[in-house]
Amino acid sequence: MQQICVLGATGSIGRSTLDVIGQHLEQYQVFALTAHQRINELAELCIKYKPIFAVVTNKEDQQQLQQWLTQQGLATEVLQGKEALCEVTSHPEVAVVMAAIIGAAGLEPTLAAVKAGKKVLLANKESLVMSGALFMQTVKDSKATLLPIDSEHNAIFQCLPSTFDSDLPKIGVRKILLTASGGPFRNTAIEQLATVTPAQACAHPNWSMGKKISVDSATMMNKGLELIEACWLFNAQPEQIEIVIQPQSVIHSMVDYLDGSVLAQLGNPDMRTPIAHALAWPDRITSGVTPLDLFKIGHLDFMQPDEQRFPCLRLAKEAIKTKGTAPAILNAANEVAVAAFLNEQIKFTMIKQVIAETLNKLAVTDASTLELILTADGQARRFATNYIKTLG
Ligand code: NDP
Ligand code: MG
Repeated sequence: MQQICVLGATGSIGRSTLDVIGQHLEQYQVFALTAHQRINELAELCIKYKPIFAVVTNKEDQQQLQQWLTQQGLATEVLQGKEALCEVTSHPEVAVVMAAIIGAAGLEPTLAAVKAGKKVLLANKESLVMSGALFMQTVKDSKATLLPIDSEHNAIFQCLPSTFDSDLPKIGVRKILLTASGGPFRNTAIEQLATVTPAQACAHPNWSMGKKISVDSATMMNKGLELIEACWLFNAQPEQIEIVIQPQSVIHSMVDYLDGSVLAQLGNPDMRTPIAHALAWPDRITSGVTPLDLFKIGHLDFMQPDEQRFPCLRLAKEAIKTKGTAPAILNAANEVAVAAFLNEQIKFTMIKQVIAETLNKLAVTDASTLELILTADGQARRFATNYIKTLG
């Protein structure tokens, strides 16, 4: 029986994870569930999965949830705050941590799990984007097992030999083909992008996801963040990664080898596949995902991304080439800009402007410590927030 922590249990990935766990309760036991604002939903999940701990952000929520769970006869102890998140992820009884908090808020608890040498299922790509070198060094030092949940990275992981240890040319890899759906605005006239609404941006054609990553998919910043994520996970240079638009989201990514072989991982677009893969790795378990019906799909298309339509791709490529705190600045400015777009404070097309301006104005430092990374994150958030105010 493996004890598992689900960080971000109330989110899209959190719920998919619990769905898979629910199909294999003879193998996995929920040790801790965490949430931020959706406390009622966390309460329901606690009733269903009976974790030892639940972790929330606010003191008030902690008291209320504790009272309610105790009334229901549950022994779950409710904890509060970032330190509690780090405590549960590094608890000696925990074997597996699903890192599915959205954005920079996930960095410290995810790093704590890595430091404690856990099996870490990484959905929270932003934490790796922010702290790449430090994160990967910590994985090495602590001998943690890092398994990618992002469908593309999980696909690449599956297409690489199981013995892969950080040298792509040595194992005959020519390049990584990182697939993208192109999001909801792949074919929208560029001049219409200034007036698209948050609801339109969140209506992804193939995937059902949280709002922030849905907007990232619409700007293709998601693919930019994923390019950075792939560089760190697979020790690749940005030039070794090619982005391929695959509008059906059936091929989740590919690895192109020197001998002309291209290996791909296919499946229906449902995150329970990479979650089940990583949970059971190196074994396989059922996920509840409908088997792929190739005859129904009929054909697969491939296109090159257009950087004029998707300028965030270029910004992300530049940030990973610059290294240091540049990816952390990019990520923070993007989080602030996406939140402002979702609050209808700025237009969709302003997202890239906020990020570009923040990267232009802030000095990049080295990113060798958590403190340096968090300082860059804070500065970028303040700058981007103030810049948005000037946009009126
Ligand atoms: P959601 O917005 O659906 O869920 C986010 C989760 O994080 C919720 O449980 C939320 O709590 C919690 N959370 C938000 N802010 C904080 C905070 N400040 N402190 C602690 N917890 C917080 O996001 P997704 O599930 O879509 O995405 C999660 C991660 O997985 C992201 O990093 C995303 O990039 C990545 N990912 C997601 C995919 C998807 O298909 N959804 C695919 C690939 C990667 P609450 O809801 O209670 O407020
Ligand atoms: Mg992805």
